[in-house]
Amino acid sequence: MNILLVTSETLPYCKSGGLGDFIWSYSKALVQKGHDVSVIVPLYGSMKTKFPETTAELYDNYDFQMNWKNQGCGVFHLVNQGVNFYFTAMDEPFGREGALYGYGDDNERFATFMMAVNTFISRHNRFDVVHCNDWQTAVLPLLLTYNPKKIKTVLTIHNPAYQGWSLRGDLPYFFNLSTDYYDSGYARLGDSFNFLKTGIMSADKVNTVSHTHANELMHDHVGFGGMGSIIDWCRHNDFSGIVNGLDTQVWDPLTDKHIGENYDINTYKAGKKVNRDAILHLLDMNTFFSGPLFSVVTRLSSQKGVERIMSIMPLLRQYDARMIVIGTGEMEDQFLYESLKYPEVYFVKKYDENLAHLLYAASDYFLMPSYFEPCGTSQMIAMRYGTLPIVSNVGGLNDTVKDLSVGDEATGFVFDNNCYDGFYNCFKAANEFYFHEPEKYTRCQVNGMKGDYSWAKSADDYLELYKSISWK
Ligand code: ADP
Repeated sequence: MNILLVTSETLPYCKSGGLGDFIWSYSKALVQKGHDVSVIVPLYGSMKTKFPETTAELYDNYDFQMNWKNQGCGVFHLVNQGVNFYFTAMDEPFGREGALYGYGDDNERFATFMMAVNTFISRHNRFDVVHCNDWQTAVLPLLLTYNPKKIKTVLTIHNPAYQGWSLRGDLPYFFNLSTDYYDSGYARLGDSFNFLKTGIMSADKVNTVSHTHANELMHDHVGFGGMGSIIDWCRHNDFSGIVNGLDTQVWDPLTDKHIGENYDINTYKAGKKVNRDAILHLLDMNTFFSGPLFSVVTRLSSQKGVERIMSIMPLLRQYDARMIVIGTGEMEDQFLYESLKYPEVYFVKKYDENLAHLLYAASDYFLMPSYFEPCGTSQMIAMRYGTLPIVSNVGGLNDTVKDLSVGDEATGFVFDNNCYDGFYNCFKAANEFYFHEPEKYTRCQVNGMKGDYSWAKSADDYLELYKSISWK
């Protein structure tokens, strides 16, 4: 099958969160299964200097019309591990150095990207399925309904909290589309032209990234601006959940180049100890404490349960425990202010891929008390590195972490998201467990490290989804 993945980020070139992990690991899994896989992504300013290979081969060059402007676009190409990467080069609006998103004109930026991809597809019309991801690419399925080839489309929702809220007039302004799509309600949610809703209405199939989150989303008619009700009422039969796999090549404690000491299931105790000492020295922290080392690697947004993490900071001293947090995001200043009150907490306010690897390897527990979590990548990484995750029972966390209550198969702690002090009590229980149940703690570590987080099954589920529409 010939598959085009359309995305706003992908490893190894640009990443802000789990979407970047998803695209790269999933596309390699598809190649291994014998498919022809392409990924198309904007060429961001920072990529040109960091990855000069991304601009080595000019593959195509064209103009397209966006109502009031004629936009030029170069497309660069390279092949990495069998995956064809296409980078759309448009200095304005993608040439800026710095973050991938978070600009006032993000709607216009990604509308421009979608129009560029739409033109690219008509010029190279060989794809059986075009697989879009999140709001940044979600209007493309509607644009492709005008393509004479009737290309099949899938939209994956990685995070329904981000939707692309635009104006009615942006339908013609950005996309040359009629405002009838807004007036009829097709592209409208509340008082905005909603990119994500447009994709939900127009893609052949829609999915999210875990079974539990698919269920949560369809039955939540209030949260996310009522997006769940749209899925439930309009796309019930075309909506499903497929849990993400992990890139077991990138995230392997035995071969990971970013950590101080490599280890596997036989050597993890000694290995983790070396990594623990390494990160403590690196951050100039005292290595002498008897309690567990807790870790967090996250976007500091409210979704991730940041207040919950702050609420347990006063308990660290009681258990002679430490916590290292690597994160950035809208709550970073609030988090910094809080963390400075506790000498047991070390906060690294930046995006640091290398340090994140070392921290997963060094720590005893990984905290992920999210209020919602479509899939989550970090909890799987933690388990693979012998670090017990402490998670809420939502979305992909619920689907991938086995709570202590299941007995011998457990891999971590899962608390009730709806219980007011669920996380607080769970955190205390985890400390007690660490001190008083060393054998059970070890068993959880081993179970986690042995777990199958590969794409083998989930890639087949996506292929089934593609096949189910390719005959239509
Ligand atoms: P989300 O996609 O919602 O941000 P996920 O758990 O799916 O959450 O994916 C987060 C990914 O981003 C993980 O690979 C995690 O290690 C990485 N990550 C998040 N914040 C940072 C950071 N500040 N530094 C390095 N890596 C980070």
